[in-house]
Amino acid sequence: APALSLAGVGKTYNPGRPNAVEVLRGVDLDVAPGEVVALVAPSGAGKSTLLHIAGLLDTADIGRVSLGGRDMTRLGDRPRTAARRDQVGFIYQFHHLLPEFSAIENIVLPQLANGTSRAEARSRAAGLLAQVGLENRGKHRPAALSGGEQQRVAFCRALANAPRLLLADEPTGNLDPATSDRVFGALMDLVRGTGLAALIATHNLDLAARMDRQVRLEAGRIVAA
Ligand code: ADP
Ligand code: ADP
Repeated sequence: APALSLAGVGKTYNPGRPNAVEVLRGVDLDVAPGEVVALVAPSGAGKSTLLHIAGLLDTADIGRVSLGGRDMTRLGDRPRTAARRDQVGFIYQFHHLLPEFSAIENIVLPQLANGTSRAEARSRAAGLLAQVGLENRGKHRPAALSGGEQQRVAFCRALANAPRLLLADEPTGNLDPATSDRVFGALMDLVRGTGLAALIATHNLDLAARMDRQVRLEAGRIVAA
């Protein structure tokens, strides 16, 4: 089964009101396990909306959302949250790390929330940090890390609970071009190492070209790039 399947997904904000915005109008998109797909679209095209619906943070008005072959469309709030925590990792343009916690604690906490023991969570966090070359930064708080380092910690946090699907919204958009290039390489190594599926929104066509496949979001629909 696809890691992610969107079929006929539509979304309108403020429906029926004068300020209604039809953002998605029939999005069809499958991402296979192990596949890394670039989502390319201009700002305002609805990328964040699409990623939030795919990651069960928001609901579609119409259409179907499946993760790992399981239809999530009509799940209640609690099973949706459980499915999201279990199956989906998110990365944003800004790291959103908790400032008062160390790098390693930022990766440990989501695992504790998921019922992992502290010892196991710390061991997994240390392993992830080593994979992105930050084995000596675990005790640093986010403010003591460079922008690229902060974002690499955020990648580790997104993978902390071993999701099947990674959703990323401009994951290196906040970094200068050289750092962006290196940090994106670290992300791709992490993703390739786990074989998880990823849908990565980016404006950066050079980064998009390094993924398996590119799709564009145009006029509320997905078209091949
Ligand atoms: P992107 O991530 O591609 O920039 P978004 O999904 O954030 O696009 O937004 C797509 C469109 O939907 C924009 O016109 C935006 O203003 C509008 N929009 C986004 N969220 C809301 C909301 N909560 N209420 C009303 N309009 C929204
Ligand atoms: P936690 O287990 O920390 O309570 P949640 O279940 O609330 O986490 O959220 C799971 C994932 O979704 C996290 O990666 C979190 O950053 C993200 N998330 C939660 N709510 C939102 C939101 N409103 N907008 C964007 N991302 C969110």
